[in-house]
Amino acid sequence: MALINGKYVSEKMKQELKEKLLHLKRKPGLAVIRIGEDAASKIYVNLKAKMCEELGITFMEYHLDSNIQQEDLMGLIYQLNANDEITAILLQSPIPYHLNILQAFEAIDPAKDVDGFHPTNVGRLALGLEGFAPCTPVGVMKLLEEYNINVEGKHCVVIGRSNIVGRPMAQLLINANATVTVCHSKTKNLAEITKTADVVVVAIGKPHYITADMIKEGAVVIDVGINRLPDSKKVVGDVDFDNVKDKCSYITPVPGGVGPMTIITLMENVIKTAE
Ligand code: NAP
Repeated sequence: MALINGKYVSEKMKQELKEKLLHLKRKPGLAVIRIGEDAASKIYVNLKAKMCEELGITFMEYHLDSNIQQEDLMGLIYQLNANDEITAILLQSPIPYHLNILQAFEAIDPAKDVDGFHPTNVGRLALGLEGFAPCTPVGVMKLLEEYNINVEGKHCVVIGRSNIVGRPMAQLLINANATVTVCHSKTKNLAEITKTADVVVVAIGKPHYITADMIKEGAVVIDVGINRLPDSKKVVGDVDFDNVKDKCSYITPVPGGVGPMTIITLMENVIKTAE
């Protein structure tokens, strides 16, 4: 078994991005809209701010009250679309239930949509065209590339079909000529399917759900899950790492696998908006 070290790969990418930034004619600027007081969102936004600062990217946070109305949110997005110093816009989810998140995503200029959630970018990904794709699955593709894991002709099983991870992951793998099966909570006989996989990507948010008996000998296992155990507060993935690791050829740990790739891929997208 070999460990896929996302921390190492993301650090290497960071150095490459620093170098790239030196030669950019236009300074990239990321605006993040955060609504309400979700604690996890605050942590994620702070991490993005810190990374922008390290790289020398302008960072602006727009923290809105949880009672904000849709028209005010839309007004802010239109204002940011028109602001030339803001090259990238991100709406941090979750947002309060009374707001229409899809309408908000659709209002973001697709050229500034670094999360890849605008229908134009979703469509471009489905068509195999250039555009912004969600950062976590793009980060997974980069890890596979970095470790010379070629998915062409391989059976890749994606578990989870969210708009943020599972669906775009499946699209990226199809675009890379993999044979892809997507599983979700209604899938019957999940283990029978995963046992035929050369590559398993799991993003379901269920600690240690994928066990050794579900994995084929020599498979590649990518664990996107981030779960905090209630008693120990330890962060674990969706894969039963200790038991699965000896069965696979490659595996990502949690933490230190896919996680660090998401934020560095976001930075790469932000830089692209200024190129
Ligand atoms: P989500 O929106 O809740 O989607 C979960 C998906 O898993 C759904 O498609 C659901 O199926 C499926 N699912 C749930 N239980 C299942 C089961 N028992 N068997 C098969 N499929 C099952 O979650 P998400 O946003 O994609 O995130 C998934 C995990 O990845 C979470 O732990 C999250 O924290 C983590 N994550 C990590 C990163 C990172 O940077 N590493 C980024 C994003 C997310 P249905 O569609 O049928 O409900």
